Amino acid sequence: RQKEKHALLEAHTYSAKLYHYLLQNMEVAKPAKAYLNSRGFTDALIEEFGIGYAPARWDTLTQALERKGYSLAEMETGGLLSRRQEGEGYVDRFRDRIMFPIHDANGREIAFGGRLMTDGQPKYLNSPETPLFNKSRTLYRLGQARPAIRRMRQVVLLEGYVDVIKAWSAGVHQGVATMGTALTGEHAALLKRFADEAVICYDGDDAGQAAAHKSIPILEEAGFRVRVGILPNRMDPDEYITSYGPEPFVREIIEGAVSAIKFQLIYLRKSHILLEEDGRIRYLREAVRLVARRDSPTERELLLKELAQEFGVSIDTLKQEAADIRQQEK
Ligand code: ATP
Ligand code: MN
Ligand code: MN
Ligand code: MN
Repeated sequence: RQKEKHALLEAHTYSAKLYHYLLQNMEVAKPAKAYLNSRGFTDALIEEFGIGYAPARWDTLTQALERKGYSLAEMETGGLLSRRQEGEGYVDRFRDRIMFPIHDANGREIAFGGRLMTDGQPKYLNSPETPLFNKSRTLYRLGQARPAIRRMRQVVLLEGYVDVIKAWSAGVHQGVATMGTALTGEHAALLKRFADEAVICYDGDDAGQAAAHKSIPILEEAGFRVRVGILPNRMDPDEYITSYGPEPFVREIIEGAVSAIKFQLIYLRKSHILLEEDGRIRYLREAVRLVARRDSPTERELLLKELAQEFGVSIDTLKQEAADIRQQEK
């Protein structure tokens, strides 16, 4: 068991080196290199993040691992190889993909995310759950981001590999990402050891905003103060940084992130038609419910005052409603 894990770790380190070497040196990797360069990945970024390329052949890694004497069955369990569809034997799991190595908290390679350069499906192929890789416990780049997270007592949560890398190049070194799965209580508890504040900066599209909305209570229950960086025009952090540059990203989006409750109110607005009285009443009721759940009386008062002003109702009415809700939910 331990021996198998050890072999898998070693094989991952070796595979990451191989994919990276192929990207940096091989003729067949030229289109991959050009793709990365066109997306703003400098050589320095490619080196720092250990990015690689898995060629379009079926047996690049399979042959290399076999030559090294690894058990191919174990390598299949580890997510590096796949069982051949027909007949005996194994083939490379990752083919013709840009390879992002995923590390454990100690900086050891334990999995990969592989991106197609064309529009095929799936866009990203990640390693499956393996003895090394538990998705609900792993965060992309946590090991490398930990010093910055500790120093700032702040973690920035992003959606994708590319977002973490581009945020890092913009000076946001406290960024991590989940890998195509939802944030879990385990992720939050792990991060809480190093930080007090979480800034969610997911994609600005509907899926990203819905995921941000779901992550807020998970982080708050773990004890975080939560803020949300809101990106315009459905952009993701990579697109925003490419369009507007690193400084606006740091200043407007990360430092300018709004409080969790502000985000929840903005999010709630989207599902109500405020031009109609009916919609306004329902929005206001839900909004007061969200505000009523805040612990701080000062925060509640300020938010209720804003709502009262905007909708032309008295603050006393809203306070009464909030008090009723607090009573009910006790
Ligand atoms: P890119 O900029 O390269 O298109 P992205 O990070 O913007 O990548 P999204 O579609 O926003 O891509 O997805 C966010 C993250 O979700 C990805 O980085 C990846 O970890 C995960 N993901 C996306 N598509 C898939 C998929 N088909 N299977 C598994 N995970 C996926
Ligand atoms: Mn997305
Ligand atoms: Mn995205
Ligand atoms: Mn993107």
